[in-house]
Amino acid sequence: MAKCPKCGKDISKPRKTWKMAGRPDKSGKRLELEIGLFDCPTCGAFRKALSKRKI
Ligand SMILES: [Zn+2]
Repeated sequence: MAKCPKCGKDISKPRKTWKMAGRPDKSGKRLELEIGLFDCPTCGAFRKALSKRKI
């Protein structure tokens, strides 16, 4: 679930999710982000990071 950044409405399900690897930090570990694309009925689509994990 995610809140729309413009109107604050809770959107229960993402339209689409995908994973994205970030840049490695100083210790060489990468952060894998899971991104969700949500649709707000009034403001349109927005993206939000759902989870982060080190890989
Ligand atoms: Zn909205």
